[in-house]
Parts: sequence; structure tokens; C-alpha cells
Amino acid sequence: MRKYFIAGNWKMNPLSDPLPLLRELKVKLVGMNNIDLVVAPPFTALHQASELLRETPIIISAQHLFWEEKGAFTGEISASMLKVAGADYVIIGHSERRQYFSETDHSVNLRLKTALNNGLTPILCLGETEDERERGITFEVIERQFKGALSGCGESDLPGFIIAYEPVWAIGTGKTAQPADAQEVHEFLRRLLRDHYSSALADTTRIIYGGSVKPDNAAGLFKQVDIDGALVGGASLSAESFAQIAKASMELV
Ligand code: PEP
Repeated sequence: MRKYFIAGNWKMNPLSDPLPLLRELKVKLVGMNNIDLVVAPPFTALHQASELLRETPIIISAQHLFWEEKGAFTGEISASMLKVAGADYVIIGHSERRQYFSETDHSVNLRLKTALNNGLTPILCLGETEDERERGITFEVIERQFKGALSGCGESDLPGFIIAYEPVWAIGTGKTAQPADAQEVHEFLRRLLRDHYSSALADTTRIIYGGSVKPDNAAGLFKQVDIDGALVGGASLSAESFAQIAKASMELV
């Protein structure tokens, strides 16, 4: 059985002091050892988070990285810098990066390979926009993003990597996908893993859902056979609601 993977993406929040939220998470997530718990704070809080959560099972993720190792790339951050700051995972291809920072399937691919080559585990985000769903091209878009992101990656590169299906229309909008609709896309992604790689990789890779996951809709999503957890945005900024989402998965283990 795949272990549930519950990750909190803080995005560019909180604006000032991350310590109260980190301290509260440490208390509220204690004992949740049957699942994988991840927090992705902004760059400036990575080091504090990794220090504070050192003795806990909570893993640290970055939200972004650049593919060059060093040099004149003002404002960017390399994989080795993230590792020094304490990150083990990195979110790649989030729709906000695609939408506001011109990420393409090609740049997602470069970032993903950089993460893999530097011992950072990618959380690869993909998902269709509302317009694409309405036009009936969801699967086409997902397949294009999947192939683009993983181009040139062999099966031996990928154990442990995470796929996050995040329909763009559900992110930060309060509109969650119906569990059965999300399941359909997760099943499709698992089929892509099987067809392009192997049954072994398809059976072991965690495919998590993101898009307005809250304590009251989490269990319905987690009960779906191909949904292995969540990437949580807004609700991860409250330790209480993040812990309730994590608990919803614990109760199914
Ligand atoms: C996200 O940022 O990945 C996300 C899913 O956000 P929210 O939970 O706020 O929709």
C-alpha cells in the first residue's frame, strides 16, 4: 500500500514570522508516523523550518529551483542552496509558476532533472485550466504536461517522486474537484506511468491531489483508490486545519 503524502505549500505566506506556525505544526502533527508530512515554506524560512523540525518526521520542501548551479542569475536559487537550507523535496511546475512566471513544459523538465540530479525529490504539479476542462481536453493537457516534464527521465531516476494533480480552476478558489472526477485523472496518470515506464513505478508512485483541499472534503478525496494524499495551499497556513487534513488520511490507514 502507498503511504499517504500530505504536503503544505505556504506559497509567499506568512509575511513575517514563520516560527509560531512551525511550532504549532510540530505539536499538532506529533505521532502521525504512518503518513509522510511535508511543509514547503518560502525560501527565507527553509533553514528555520529544518532546524525547528529536525527531530520530527516532518520533511521540508522548497517551492521552486533554478537549473543552473551558480552564476549571474539574479533572484534565482540552485538545488545545492536548497539542500544547504534543509530542503529534501521541491515543488516543480506549480500552476502559479506556469501562469505568472512563464514556466513551460520545457523549463519544468529542466528543473525536474536538476532536482533529481541533486538529490532533491520533485513534487511535479500538473493540471488543466477551467477553459481546457470545458473544451474537453483535460486528458490531452495532462498527457502533454506529463511527457514534457519527464522527457529524458529514466525509470531509475524516478522512485519516490511525487505527482500532484492540481486542476488550475480549483486552486485557491474554494472549488474542489469532485472525488470521482479527480480519481479519473489520477487513474489516467497512473496509466501513463504504466505505459511509459512500468507497472512497478505506476503502483508505487504517490499521486496526490491539490485544489482547495480542506478538512471537510479531504476524506472523500483520500478514499479514492488512486489519490494518495494532498498538496494543500490555503488550509496549510492553519496548523489546526492542516493537522485535520493529515488526520483524515491517518484514519484510512
Ligand atoms: C496549491 O497551492 O497547490 C493549492 C492547492 O492551493 P489551495 O489549497 O489554496 O487551493
